[in-house]
Amino acid sequence: MGEKRADVLVVTPHPDDAEFGVAGTVVHWVRQGKEVVYIVCTNGDKGTENAKVKPDELAGIRQKEQLKAAKILGVKEVVFLGHPDQGLEDTPEFRKEIVRLIRIYRPDIIVTSDPYRRYIWHRDHRIVGQVTLDAVFPYARDIWAYPDLLEEGLEPHRVKEIWFWASEDVNHRSDITQTFNLKLKALRSHKSQIKETFVAEMEKWLSERARSMAEGEKFKLAEGFHRAEIWW
Ligand SMILES: [Zn+2]
Repeated sequence: MGEKRADVLVVTPHPDDAEFGVAGTVVHWVRQGKEVVYIVCTNGDKGTENAKVKPDELAGIRQKEQLKAAKILGVKEVVFLGHPDQGLEDTPEFRKEIVRLIRIYRPDIIVTSDPYRRYIWHRDHRIVGQVTLDAVFPYARDIWAYPDLLEEGLEPHRVKEIWFWASEDVNHRSDITQTFNLKLKALRSHKSQIKETFVAEMEKWLSERARSMAEGEKFKLAEGFHRAEIWW
């Protein structure tokens, strides 16, 4: 387990969400020498409109696509938790699974989906954000939260910052002007999700969004987050 370490842990509900949310910033971090690890919580086996592709087959395809995207971005490792798509719940078991990974990788920064987005929001996105936030504080921090993890040698860990993508309360914009093309390239790896005919439209929409996110900043393109620095 000695080699397992990350500066940044990205906890994402489905294959492709992290590319939409944080890929430009990921490349920026990788270029700074930071090690970024992805935790993909579900296998994405229901994310299709094509009834001919069965869930088992789709899960395999989406795993390969996620690995390809991660490689483009320079992500060090991708951990697939393999939960069923649309199947996440805020359970003690899932929370502990995330705590275990935080204590193994010991990141300074965690990035995940904002659980507080209102109204139409995928349930898996809401749950991943909530469970990850709770895992960071207090469960990963507290020594007696999981005596059995302690026995395994997984000591408490204090994450310094948690960043949420898709937030309605953006308080941090990161410069992705130089990395936006790789974000698009990584997104194009998710072929089963993003139809060929939709690519041009999607890229236009993403660049408009990135441009408006950067309004008032010194740079042209941005990803927006709610960034919470933890006081400890
Ligand atoms: Zn998703």
